[in-house]
Amino acid sequence: MIKRAAEIDNILLSLNLSIDAHYKWLVKMFRCVVSGDITQPEIIHVNSYCMCEFGQWLNNHPARENDETGYLYQIDKAHIEMHISGRILLSAIVEKRWLPEHFEHFQDTLLAFTAAVTDYKIYLLNIRSNMDILTGLPGRRLLDESFDRQLIEASPGNLYLLLLDIDRFKSVNDTYGHLVGDVVLRSLASNLSAWTREDETAYRYGGEEFIIIIKAQTDEMACQAGMRICDLIARHSIHYPDGEINITVTGGVTRAQPGEPLDVVLGRSDQAMYEGKQTGRNRCMFMDKQQKITRITRREPDHSLFTKQAAG
Ligand code: GH3
Ligand code: MG
Ligand code: MG
Repeated sequence: MIKRAAEIDNILLSLNLSIDAHYKWLVKMFRCVVSGDITQPEIIHVNSYCMCEFGQWLNNHPARENDETGYLYQIDKAHIEMHISGRILLSAIVEKRWLPEHFEHFQDTLLAFTAAVTDYKIYLLNIRSNMDILTGLPGRRLLDESFDRQLIEASPGNLYLLLLDIDRFKSVNDTYGHLVGDVVLRSLASNLSAWTREDETAYRYGGEEFIIIIKAQTDEMACQAGMRICDLIARHSIHYPDGEINITVTGGVTRAQPGEPLDVVLGRSDQAMYEGKQTGRNRCMFMDKQQKITRITRREPDHSLFTKQAAG
């Protein structure tokens, strides 16, 4: 999963650099034509597409999302074809047996390559434009648009939604000012993406509300994941230029049933979270299939996972 706007910026930067390297490859080809040199492995070797800088970028750039696989496959295919037609053209020129078709075919493969790269960039920029500006986390729209697919792709019954709402955040703004409030939101966002597993994503859903899509095999495991995040937030001071601030959150966890729309799942997490606010804040709540809300407690040896009552 692409978790941060900065990740996309890094992909685009490295992609652009390796495309620059391909312009240099093209110039190198001109030199080879002029000098009659057909020994350069980046151009003439049967596996030249793996040896050039772009090929190396491609090899070191696995797809993070299912959609991304398709774009990278098209780029890979076009890149290989461009190398093959370039090698054929160069040999034909040096051996003085070239035909106009050699040039036309090379041109077609060059254009197909740039088109495939452009499609991928548009895909990345579309995600980038839906990243939250303040925190760099994926924004609400990305969750809205991807939730149904995430639910289908997850193992049945393994997807949970954790809604987190910062406790008394208005008083953070009132006490320290809005700018420090922004620092808190940015810092929390950065921690959340670091604290979630590779296959889990944190979203900024609204002002001081965050959502984490958790993958877990059982309710207990999802609850412990939610509790762990809430605990980490409470224990981790946030630094700002004049000192540090401690915040807590109230969380609501629920399991997404197969085929359920986001608003229904979110509604349950929200009810669980609301119950947590009503009963004291700084806690994580779980709503089960029967709509029963329980407070999650930290797993201790020989202790039950849940307390008996919601109120604590
Ligand atoms: P509760 O524990 O009930 O959630 O209390 P709260 O104060 O967190 O809740 P409330 O909804 O009253 O206040 C949310 C605050 O979040 C109010 C709003 O100004 C602040 N907020 C929302 N978005 C931003 C933002 O982008 N930056 C800053 N600094 N504050 C924000
Ligand atoms: Mg709120
Ligand atoms: Mg709040």
